[in-house]
Amino acid sequence: MITIKDKTFVPFIAAESIQARIQELADQINQEYAGKQPLIVVVLNGAFLFAADLAKHLTIPCEITFIRVASYNATESSGTVKQILGLTEAIEGRDLIVVEDIVDTGLTIAQVCDQLQEKHPASLSIATLLFKPAALKKQLDLHYVGFEIENRFVLGYGLDYDGLGRNTPDILVLE
Ligand code: 5GP
Ligand code: MG
Ligand code: MG
Repeated sequence: MITIKDKTFVPFIAAESIQARIQELADQINQEYAGKQPLIVVVLNGAFLFAADLAKHLTIPCEITFIRVASYNATESSGTVKQILGLTEAIEGRDLIVVEDIVDTGLTIAQVCDQLQEKHPASLSIATLLFKPAALKKQLDLHYVGFEIENRFVLGYGLDYDGLGRNTPDILVLE
């Protein structure tokens, strides 16, 4: 159990389960990208631990790069417009794997993927550790999903509450 400010979080997914599932995802990626050299695009900050553990199990040659997503004040029908920061690699013709911590409404990852698609990659797939199907507002093709979870607020293993709590090996859930 962890208390951060006014909120109490209780155990949800144990570190051992997370690690076992990541090994399975890596096995799948290794098979499906055999003979390719993907560019792994990690969406910071939340995906930093997931990406690190996933990468340790990848046996294919790959490049790993990191982006952040900043919100503009301008809005479109779906909400806040997100801008990609930090991407310096050429994308055209590359096989991209976008690594996210969690897909909730799906609006963030959808906008990130739309912007990456404009640069004409050869292919683009999404790997997310967590997915809340009940919260999804956007039609999305999620290729690699660690765990489908209920629509509750989770913390740890990269995910924060108000900037805190990212540094746990387990995932916890708001009580
Ligand atoms: P989406 O655009 O899919 O709604 O989610 C965008 C971001 O919201 C995620 O990348 C993540 O940073 C944050 N988020 C969504 N659900 C949760 C949650 O349950 N816990 C935490 N800590 N962050 C979340
Ligand atoms: Mg995220
Ligand atoms: Mg956050």
